[in-house]
Amino acid sequence: MKTSQDYTTKEALLELYNKPLLELVFEAATVHRRFHNPREVQMSSLLSIKTGGCPEDCGYCPQAARYHTDVEAHKLMSVESVVEQAKNAKENGSSRLCMGAAWREVRDNKDFDNVIEMVQAVNDLDMEVCCTLGMMNEEQAKRLKNAGLFAYNHNLDTSKDYYDDVISTREYEDRLNTIDNARKAGISVCSGGIIGMGEAVEDRIGLLMSYMEMETPPESIPINALVAVEGTPMAEQKPIEQWEMIRHGRNHENRFSSISRSLISWKNKNEHGGTGSMFYGWSKFNFCRR
Ligand code: SF4
Repeated sequence: MKTSQDYTTKEALLELYNKPLLELVFEAATVHRRFHNPREVQMSSLLSIKTGGCPEDCGYCPQAARYHTDVEAHKLMSVESVVEQAKNAKENGSSRLCMGAAWREVRDNKDFDNVIEMVQAVNDLDMEVCCTLGMMNEEQAKRLKNAGLFAYNHNLDTSKDYYDDVISTREYEDRLNTIDNARKAGISVCSGGIIGMGEAVEDRIGLLMSYMEMETPPESIPINALVAVEGTPMAEQKPIEQWEMIRHGRNHENRFSSISRSLISWKNKNEHGGTGSMFYGWSKFNFCRR
């Protein structure tokens, strides 16, 4: 079986991507079993701690203030409410809480102080804490790490080439910098993308190449399928085929694996072996997909 070192070019990745589906699934499952118990899953709960009203223009996102969708903007939740939600999640079997805020970037203000408190409080419940708060600098990443943050989510969304068709209010490089800042602070990285936004297969491969080029690829690579929401620029996009999703991603139960797992598990073989998830049918009520 090939290793990640064999997949250093887009051509090699395309060849892997275009393998007969069952062969690809078998290969990915074999890699998965090498690093994980296939009967085990981790349950995580997602909580939108600050919804809507975002100044960015991500073409898929109903939380962007400039699009007319039925998402209502809410202020940051209180620390008490977040702790209550975290306790509920834990009682229902989750060992990780992911908190998302629809911000362009982290600012050094009272809201960020409150998020730090939330991270500490959830960490004290003996749960893994993950955040997605937009762009952040190295100092902010260190504060989150010191508060007990386990993972930071910041998606690249798509390939560098297709990126400008999706977002104009920040650069691909900005995203890479935030991922780098999380890494430098010793935070586990969760970063993935969305398929079904009108991109070509080459763009999906380009997204994976961006991760393969990192010294340490993300421990988690969530692959999302677009849910076209009325009022966003992508409202008319057709849903992608489930087969495409299986080829590209993996689901919550880790039963279907494919190209992402094949690649990243090899690359991360001394770490977590890749612990990604797939959000098939990302809904407008979920939090920011950075
Ligand atoms: S994906 Fe995140 S950054 Fe982009 S518009 Fe939505 S909330 Fe804002």
